Amino acid sequence: MVLAGQNPASEVYVRNKIKTVGDAGCRAELFRLDASATLSEALALVHALNADNAVDAILVQSPLPESMGADAEERVFDAIDPAKDVDGFHPYNVGLLVQKRPALVACTPLGCIELLEREGIPMKGKHAVVIGRSDIVGKPMAMLLLHRHATVTVCHSRTVDLPAVARTADILVAAIGRPAFVTRDFVKPGATVIDVGINTLTSQADVDRIFAEGSRKRQAFAEKGSVLVGDVHPDVETVAGALTPVPGGVGPLTVAMVLRNTVTAAELRKAGM
Ligand code: NAP
Repeated sequence: MVLAGQNPASEVYVRNKIKTVGDAGCRAELFRLDASATLSEALALVHALNADNAVDAILVQSPLPESMGADAEERVFDAIDPAKDVDGFHPYNVGLLVQKRPALVACTPLGCIELLEREGIPMKGKHAVVIGRSDIVGKPMAMLLLHRHATVTVCHSRTVDLPAVARTADILVAAIGRPAFVTRDFVKPGATVIDVGINTLTSQADVDRIFAEGSRKRQAFAEKGSVLVGDVHPDVETVAGALTPVPGGVGPLTVAMVLRNTVTAAELRKAGM
């Protein structure tokens, strides 16, 4: 794992991943770069890890310091050996995914599919609507659903009458980054709703708008001054057939898929593939 700079959220993510990876019996090592490190230094570190045969997986924590330049993330992620790219962000792995060939696939959408499969929720012939078209969630999610024979619609900020489109979904995936954006009127009764969003609320007004009086979330906010909410409004629970919680839904599945991809990468490299 490569961590550049001192972003507090990144520190938490990296600490959690190191613990989880260690608990699973893998060796995890953290390589730190100063906030003042250059893009060349970051690339040199990635090249050294590519060349180290003892390393099966490379995770570079985003964001990189702004001083590395606007295209730093693309340059650094592109430099990772695709065989060690357990985030599944490398264009080579994205191409393999599109062609439905064995690949290291982005962990969050992979976790969503794992969740649907384990819950026995059919995808074949169903209409799946994915709100969000990012390279790390929306697009690979759409591709994975398509490969499981769902009919897929991808929505974004320019989609006209989004609630009406979303209401046609048997499976609705929200990966937007806007607190409680998907309300009851977006959801067909009985639909399966996957909430990928993780948003931190710090304002009392937002908490009051989203959570009912006397709810656990309001209590948690009163105690801690912040509370997490997904992209889906909690009221959706009353109309959806199934709804993933935030936290404790897609997030832990994402970390589990980092581990799975690490094992896959190690096995493929051992087999010389
Ligand atoms: P992102 O790169 O910011 O993409 C957000 C997408 O939502 C964009 O495609 C954007 O459309 C769309 N969008 C924004 N506002 C919209 C609106 N008003 N109506 C319709 N679509 C709208 O975000 P991301 O990286 O995909 O992440 C999405 C969320 O998932 C965030 O809350 C993030 O924290 C969370 N996340 C969670 C995990 C996990 O492990 N659970 C992992 C990754 C991300 P345009 O393309 O048109 O701008």
